[in-house]
Amino acid sequence: MATSHPVKIPKELAGLLADKQELIRATKGFMPPDEGKALALALYECDLPYDVPAVEIGSYTGLSTIYLGTVAKRQMRSLVSVDHHRGSQENQAGWEYHDPTLVDPVSGKMDTLYLFRRTVELARLAETVIIAVADSQKFANAFSVEIGFLFIDGGHGIAEATGDYESWVPKITQGGHLAIHDVFTDASLGGQAPFLLYQRALGEGFRETMSQGSLRVMRKDSK
Ligand code: MG
Repeated sequence: MATSHPVKIPKELAGLLADKQELIRATKGFMPPDEGKALALALYECDLPYDVPAVEIGSYTGLSTIYLGTVAKRQMRSLVSVDHHRGSQENQAGWEYHDPTLVDPVSGKMDTLYLFRRTVELARLAETVIIAVADSQKFANAFSVEIGFLFIDGGHGIAEATGDYESWVPKITQGGHLAIHDVFTDASLGGQAPFLLYQRALGEGFRETMSQGSLRVMRKDSK
């Protein structure tokens, strides 16, 4: 699908992100710069009060957190970043997105938490980002606050992605935004679970506001 809404980054936001370029380049992750900037812009345009938090599902080592957190800090908004930090299925040994340097030699398990925390501190976002080390669906059950912005980029299997959608999307307040990463309309380019979530959201009261690469952003409209 072609980019349907060309993304233009306002000067203030470009300045905030320019300050983070070195860290962005040094941080492991799967967020191309044009999509990261679009993600930041989507939160930047969120006009909900500052006490309505943003939530991201899937922290990994914090690349998308730099983009979202930089904007959240500017808005004096909290960003809750949820990840069990043991890697998604596609990050495990033998899978396409495995990075052996992220395996804890003692436990033998993936562990992205220390790198994530380092990224948050280097980005000067420790007061903005609430680090939630948890299974996202279990954590959702304990989280009863309405949210203004949700970014889904956790497990990309059908069960995990659907579980994230069903446990978190109902918490988005009217006028809030839902961003989904890795939306591929063409199955040869990537897994289809995020695309299914995207289609589902469009059928459940969300209207697309932004499209950049595999990132889609939708707004929950008042009915
Ligand atoms: Mg992703």
